[in-house]
Amino acid sequence: MVNAGVWQSLTEELKAKGVTLVAVSKTKPASDVQALYDLGQRDFGENYVQELVDKQPVLPQDIRWHYIGHLQSNKVKYIAPYVHLIHAVDSFKLLQEINKQAAKHNRTIHVLLQLQIADEETKHGLNEHGITELMEYYEAQRDSLQNIQICGLMGMATFTDDEEQVRTEFARLHNFYKHIKATYFIAKPYFNTCSMGMSGDYNIAIAEGSTMVRIGSMLFGARG
Ligand SMILES: *Cc1c(COP(=O)(O)O)cnc(C)c1O
Repeated sequence: MVNAGVWQSLTEELKAKGVTLVAVSKTKPASDVQALYDLGQRDFGENYVQELVDKQPVLPQDIRWHYIGHLQSNKVKYIAPYVHLIHAVDSFKLLQEINKQAAKHNRTIHVLLQLQIADEETKHGLNEHGITELMEYYEAQRDSLQNIQICGLMGMATFTDDEEQVRTEFARLHNFYKHIKATYFIAKPYFNTCSMGMSGDYNIAIAEGSTMVRIGSMLFGARG
């Protein structure tokens, strides 16, 4: 089941604010993706490789697939032929593997680096120091990493009712995004994505500078 009315009003609201909507279709059937596609949605997010591998061939080929989950290096090859943006890169090794697989398919894969902002142990990602270190490796080896483009940062806030905490975490991500842009991507317009905000916290994320929200349950209903 797809909530067409919610999609319509959300799309209008986000368009007015210049924020990209990624419809998170994980655990939902291909028919739900098709239904939103038919309304005009083109960006969809998945976070299980097998599910994306199953859905991609049976759905329209102009869908922009976002891989938003934690990605293991040995699985990059399955999504490399078509993935549009990989949101949660959190190691240099993974970055190298994405570059290698992108080169095999003669394409450039766009990626975001994941900053760990939540105060929960289960969430993946790097802290500020880890991202800076990764950027230094990247700068040193940029010539051999021609098949990836780092387009921004991504993060997930703590799952809590405390709005001030969520706001503080998103502000931290957006500040660090601006710092990375100013330090490494000053004349690079493609570095323009701060992916933050889900069904429960996207309003706060947008107020704190999000350029891309990842929304699932609000559009597709709760996951089983
Ligand atoms: C599932 C998921 C979302 C969407 O969550 P909702 O609360 O259903 O909107 C967003 N981002 C990531 C990384 C996810 O895994």
